[in-house]
Amino acid sequence: MKSAWCLATVCMFASATAVAEITGAELDAATASLETRVIEWRRDFHRHPELANREVRTASKVAEHLRSLGLDVRTGMAHTGVVAVIEGKLPGPTVLLRADMDALPVTEQTDVPFKSAATAEFRGRTVGVMHACGHDAHTAILMGAAEVLVQMRDRLPGKVLLVFQPAEEGVPEGERGGAPMMLDEGLLDIAKPEAAFALHVGSSLPTGVVALRPGPLMAGSDFFRIVVTGRQTHGSRPWSGIDPIVAASSIVVAAQTIVSRDLDLTAAPAVVTIGAINGGIRHNIIPGQVEMLGTIRTFSDADRSQVIERLGTIATSVAAAHGATAVLEMMPAPNPVLVNDPELTKSATASLEHALGAEAVRTSSLLTVAEDYAIIARAVPSVYWWVGVTPSSQDPAAAPDNHSDRFYVDEAGIQVGLRSLLHVAVDYLQAPAR
Ligand SMILES: [Zn+2]
Ligand SMILES: [Zn+2]
Repeated sequence: MKSAWCLATVCMFASATAVAEITGAELDAATASLETRVIEWRRDFHRHPELANREVRTASKVAEHLRSLGLDVRTGMAHTGVVAVIEGKLPGPTVLLRADMDALPVTEQTDVPFKSAATAEFRGRTVGVMHACGHDAHTAILMGAAEVLVQMRDRLPGKVLLVFQPAEEGVPEGERGGAPMMLDEGLLDIAKPEAAFALHVGSSLPTGVVALRPGPLMAGSDFFRIVVTGRQTHGSRPWSGIDPIVAASSIVVAAQTIVSRDLDLTAAPAVVTIGAINGGIRHNIIPGQVEMLGTIRTFSDADRSQVIERLGTIATSVAAAHGATAVLEMMPAPNPVLVNDPELTKSATASLEHALGAEAVRTSSLLTVAEDYAIIARAVPSVYWWVGVTPSSQDPAAAPDNHSDRFYVDEAGIQVGLRSLLHVAVDYLQAPAR
């Protein structure tokens, strides 16, 4: 039995080595021949953006394309997610490639000819909708990658799990979605990946440049609500009530000492932001209650626990000092820290340098933005990198940021993104057995 297996293995490797490896030059040529179509797809998505969990049209375009490539397509994962597996003809590992598809409640102010005029309902209001984070580019890039990989399937080792994910930017209130929901629905059972790769276009890098780092790359994010309760009274007679506005103000100030006084800032940065304070209705009424909303960004589980614990203590103790009470409520579904697997990052960096030139690959600083892909990166060794999309004629430091109503994607950067993804994935699949 054993010898038969060995013989089969020898045969398998013999036939594998008889097939020429897919070269970087071939990937680049295939990418170049797809350029016009990838840009057309991206412009179409840009013109028709859809908010989180509502990516119905986008998902159907993606599914239609994947079906046209002869793939078996699964739709409707986590509401609108689309998944397919490309089976290479040679034995090898499985990689997961992920793109996000959702847009933002932003009214576009650019003057591109394919500018979005879309609107949608968001929190009870009609808002403009824009691909202000570049997920239109990510979706088009992964569609292009799928086409190239299918073309090369005869010489491709292993499998590629294509993941078009909804709702990266967060779900409408009361709904679930995004990467955690796709995992819950069995994403990693469709094909068990040994590695996962994803990218994001960004305004803070020039076109042609990519940036990544081993270990933590993007922060874990938590959202919280603090409700401070006092006792309502007349604004002219504060002594007859308990003022939750003064108590809340003290909590805001004291909360800033968590980062500046409690954390070891030489190890990693952290952020505590109160982004909203809601309380009161009139100049001469001290309200009974104040609600505060905020976010925490950390780069380790230990820091996260410490910040949450300190914030709770500060909220309740400071409120008590004012005679009020406070309750800290952590919102569900936080994003964990996005961690790049160190070994995999080393090999992906070599692929990126080979594809784009060593000078094009930069070490990213720690980023306090967050990504729900982090939850996939917790389950599968992963590498995530940023792709510059600010034209060389502009200063990236001054370019409108992701989420801005003037966010602009230099389409030459889309080609760089596609090449980077293909090189990293194919190099991984063709690497000698681990
Ligand atoms: Zn975003
Ligand atoms: Zn994004």
